[in-house]
Amino acid sequence: MNASLVDSRGRPIRDLRVSITDRCNFRCVYCMPKTVFGRDYPFLPKTELLTFEEIERIARIFAGLGVRKLRLTGGEPLLRHEVERLIRLLSGIPDLELTLTTNGSVLSHRAQDLKAAGLQRVTVSLDSLDDAIFRRMNDSDFPVARVLAGIDAAANAGLAPIKINMVVKRGTNDGEIIAMARHFRGTGHILRFIEYMDVGSSNGWRMEEVVPAAEIVERIGAVFPIEPVDPGYAGEVAERWRYRDGGGEIGVIASVTHAFCAGCTRVRLSTEGKLYTCLFAQSGYDLRQLLRDGKTDAEVAAAITAIWHARDDRYSEIRGAQSVPQKKIEMSYIGG
Ligand code: SAM
Ligand code: SF4
Ligand code: SF4
Repeated sequence: MNASLVDSRGRPIRDLRVSITDRCNFRCVYCMPKTVFGRDYPFLPKTELLTFEEIERIARIFAGLGVRKLRLTGGEPLLRHEVERLIRLLSGIPDLELTLTTNGSVLSHRAQDLKAAGLQRVTVSLDSLDDAIFRRMNDSDFPVARVLAGIDAAANAGLAPIKINMVVKRGTNDGEIIAMARHFRGTGHILRFIEYMDVGSSNGWRMEEVVPAAEIVERIGAVFPIEPVDPGYAGEVAERWRYRDGGGEIGVIASVTHAFCAGCTRVRLSTEGKLYTCLFAQSGYDLRQLLRDGKTDAEVAAAITAIWHARDDRYSEIRGAQSVPQKKIEMSYIGG
């Protein structure tokens, strides 16, 4: 095992995010807006997707290079047929924490099976408790009650601690910050507020719609006294805060206003097996081709090692100082 693999900026490789489908049953305005992801959008055909066996093989190789956490994402990962079978395969890899990020839409009847298959934790995305605002964010007429039922089912199944991700978009759901904080205080779930990011090329991102993490913290602190908590581990992206009265913990992810590239230990595998060393990378490395060409595990590991050694990405740190890349990769394809 090569646990000391570091990139050109001294960052180790620790977290692997695998997008297992580019499809989704939601059309969140900040991720897959309907104007771009319409009825005739060319999603990947099944033959282009990595098979479960290919994903397991790549994950095992990454674990050998130092990766300790694997997150299944997408698109909506629970839409991939028989994802429980994939989780069962992945749970056989030693020393690898297995998590999944979901919109929660089908979690209420899947949570038990996911846990039984070996999933350890889930992160559920939820942008509002108010039905009208929630529907405005997901643009797919989906009731918030079903996501809340999914969160309860995940808690009952033991997929905890559960993280709740709220993307905050000024003028759309920022009025929900306090209601969300109030709702999840005392539940043991960790609510995380995420700055709206300029990922992909289709969401029409504007800086004016970003609510800076500092403002979110200030707004919450004015209602519920909070204090900072030390990072849980190196490379943690969320700045952690806790309620002074013991009501639990929240996080803010300041990807735009307070870049955390210096500690970024993440690597992403797209639905069709391309490796991306940054969420804002313009191109990926085709690992699927290596597998389908019959390369050995050692040869694939050597290719990944060379890619990671050369890694120099720090898009968020230099976002303002450079011209924005022409075409960025969509989050639903690369995995959030
Ligand atoms: N469909 C699943 C879900 O929504 O949880 C998993 C994939 S989604 C791309 C992963 C995460 O990325 C979600 O928490 C989502 O809110 C977040 N996300 C998507 N677009 C974003 C954007 N433009 N800015 C910030 N976060 C974003
Ligand atoms: Fe789908 Fe998740 Fe993107 Fe929303 S954020 S459109 S649920 S992939
Ligand atoms: Fe990591 Fe790239 Fe995001 Fe920086 S911009 S934190 S390098 S994924």
